[in-house]
Amino acid sequence: MSEYTPMMQQYLAIKEEAKDAFLFFRLGDFYEMFFEDAVLAARELEITLTGRGAGKEARIPMCGVPYHSAETYISRLIEKGYKVAICEQVEDPATAKGVVRREIVRVVTPGTVMEAKALEGKANNFIAAVAVCGGEEGLAVCDLTTGELYATSLAAADGQLPHELGLYEPAEIVGDRDLVERLQDAPALWQRSVVYTARDAMEEEALLAHYGAAELERLGPARRRAVSLLTGYLADTQKRSLAHVRSIRAYEPSQYMVLDPYTRRNLELTETVQDRSRQGSLLWLLDKTETAMGARQLRRWIDKPLLVRAQIEERLEAVDKLLADFLLREELRDGLKGVYDLERLVGRIAYGTANARDLNALKQSLQQIGPLAAHCAASASQTLRRLVDRLDACADLAEMIETVLVEDPPVSVREGGLIRSGYDGYLDELREASTGGKRWLAELEQREREATGIRSLKIGYNKVFGYYLEVTKANLAQLPEGRYERKQTLAAAERFVTPELKEKERLILEAEDKMVDLEYARFAELRDRIAGQLGRLQRLAGIVATIDVLQAFAAVSEQQRYCRPTLSEDFDIAITDGRHPVIEAALDSAPFVANSAALGADSKPMMLITGPNMAGKSTYMRQVALICVMAQIGCFVPAAGAELAIVDRIFTRIGAADDLIGGQSTFMVEMKDIQTMTAKATRRSLVVIDELGRGTSTGEGMAIAQAVIEYVHDEIGCKALVSTHFHELAHLEETLPGLKNMCMAVKESGDDVAFLRKLVPGAASTSYGIYCARLAGLPDAIIGRAYALLHAAEGAVVAAPPEGARTAARTMPAGESGDAQRAGDRVRERDGSSEVAPDRHDAEESNAAA
Ligand code: ADP
Repeated sequence: MSEYTPMMQQYLAIKEEAKDAFLFFRLGDFYEMFFEDAVLAARELEITLTGRGAGKEARIPMCGVPYHSAETYISRLIEKGYKVAICEQVEDPATAKGVVRREIVRVVTPGTVMEAKALEGKANNFIAAVAVCGGEEGLAVCDLTTGELYATSLAAADGQLPHELGLYEPAEIVGDRDLVERLQDAPALWQRSVVYTARDAMEEEALLAHYGAAELERLGPARRRAVSLLTGYLADTQKRSLAHVRSIRAYEPSQYMVLDPYTRRNLELTETVQDRSRQGSLLWLLDKTETAMGARQLRRWIDKPLLVRAQIEERLEAVDKLLADFLLREELRDGLKGVYDLERLVGRIAYGTANARDLNALKQSLQQIGPLAAHCAASASQTLRRLVDRLDACADLAEMIETVLVEDPPVSVREGGLIRSGYDGYLDELREASTGGKRWLAELEQREREATGIRSLKIGYNKVFGYYLEVTKANLAQLPEGRYERKQTLAAAERFVTPELKEKERLILEAEDKMVDLEYARFAELRDRIAGQLGRLQRLAGIVATIDVLQAFAAVSEQQRYCRPTLSEDFDIAITDGRHPVIEAALDSAPFVANSAALGADSKPMMLITGPNMAGKSTYMRQVALICVMAQIGCFVPAAGAELAIVDRIFTRIGAADDLIGGQSTFMVEMKDIQTMTAKATRRSLVVIDELGRGTSTGEGMAIAQAVIEYVHDEIGCKALVSTHFHELAHLEETLPGLKNMCMAVKESGDDVAFLRKLVPGAASTSYGIYCARLAGLPDAIIGRAYALLHAAEGAVVAAPPEGARTAARTMPAGESGDAQRAGDRVRERDGSSEVAPDRHDAEESNAAA
């Protein structure tokens, strides 16, 4: 090492502290990278790799980025899952002896990035810490940009930690080594790439100093350890006091409806199965929020549906009153529109990165609060009134900003122009000196033009020579010899100074320097004063977010004609004319066919649903589950009427979606899911299983399907919707008193089938696999032969539907399902149509009604 130059030695010493990060090493106006860092960064950032002499014979690899555009490069590396350690010069190079002292001032990581460029406003960016303590696993999750901090714990034996983690989709996970390694190796339940780091817990003293004993005492040992691991990591990487991360929101997972990651995905709560986009999800449909805070809050509500009836009713009450009061809704929306992202503003204030524009945005936001609160206070909704009762609108902070800052300050806080005149007497004097000086310059220009007769003579300024008088070459002859002192010669002009000009220049520049410094000091003072009040602002932000989500619920409910659900502690679910919220919203031509649901003690808690592919079975089952979720987050539901039991857990196992997960066979995945269901579902749960028993041989599949249905019926006794292509299972209705057969009605004529999308009692007699094969475009020869074989087989024994045909139908592109519908329509037009697939006559009535 000693062979390297002193600066390289310094670099290498600092690099030791940041082995797992790119070290951005400040050299003048650049951040430089060396050695492997440089090689990798050059590739990842597509910047030129150069070399540098470093004391040894061979040059070492080097590349760099200008400091003023560093943010972009840092964001790109973070997005790729890297960490970046920023090393600054921490003493003035002009006065430093030897190598300038340098230190890492912050490590930017995927879970701790604060820079707006890398973040989406509507989503949180979480970092999680996991800990093991006794038989418990602790989890602490923080969004550094907003200061939210959640903590919970789970029994280690349950293995539910990955599920809980999946809720947050953390960008980074730190924690106890064993646990971190286990999570790293397990098939990921979250889509984002995650950075993992093993950590040690923080010094107890520092932890206490940060949160205070009261806040920590509420946590059990596992949660406390997770918080400690997280805070320690944040302290080490951020190297600053995190004033906005102070209050810990501890919760029990059992406080909320349990939705495992597969169920959340199957129901497309926050993203679609197909391309994992937000568009097309329930979140997307419900997101009529006006603020980023509201949008993030909505996401958290969807992630954690409530179980306590009173809490749900509170939200429903507000939605109800808002729905009835168009004017109030408009007023709230108008107010909310003017509110910036308070939570992230608070984060930047805590970080000391908020500029004057941010503070003005805070001021403007706070100015909206008064009217907003007044509207709520005057509303018919008890919930809204209670929300703003004793609300701290932080008006004093708005006033404080108003007295200090000008209306339209520049982006930079280091170049003056921030502070209102009249706020600081000395600053006003300096300003006067500066403007006085400039007035004098203008007068001088005028005077000298008259004295010399050179009309184009002008006063200019540059950083090297300061103020000067400029005369073009053409006019030089007119200038009396010795009038000015020559300073600089250009191609077309000469520049001059006078002693008097130099003296004024000194006064002006001094005043301006002082002004800039003083303005910055005053601004920083203001920012620090607000930083002392972050807790107040965070509480306010939470209330604004809640109001925003409630008005969003009211807006969608109105637009989509939702109804207020009635909740009961009872067991029964009764939905009248329910709809699938997202599919309904996406259908533009054909209307959505509403279907009712009755599941309960009086009406049998289990449904076995048969019907051909594409008939609407999974849509129906999902819609029942979605209606339960929507009700329990406090939103109205897509139905004509809904009486709902509060559901403690929704368990879904729905076909194709899960097949993507890590190399396991479809059948194995299904069986594991079913295992979880048997272990976790209670009488109060809702179980949805689509195409139970596929993925193995017909005989086995049917046997397992029957056994599972019996188990759910006899042992769990929950509400369940099960679809199957084994229509032979219909006989179970006779032996299981809590089970009823239902099917999706279709209209048959000859070999053609039309989907009516109406749920009717009874069982479908065939699963129309061959019809689907035809829709998928298989050659006529195959179709003809298949029908012949089927009819022959039906003559002998009851035929099992061919597997291949089912697969073909599943993978039909969306466009062709429309064709199926149209094909059906044509059939009906042509022959007036024969009726009904279901093998029970009571189905005919429903069909006629549809
Ligand atoms: P299955 O599960 O029986 O194969 P799906 O539930 O996937 O069928 O439904 C297939 C398609 O039919 C859906 O994508 C949707 O476009 C349409 N669909 C389903 N249910 C309805 C309904 N009730 N009203 C209108 N269209 C529906």
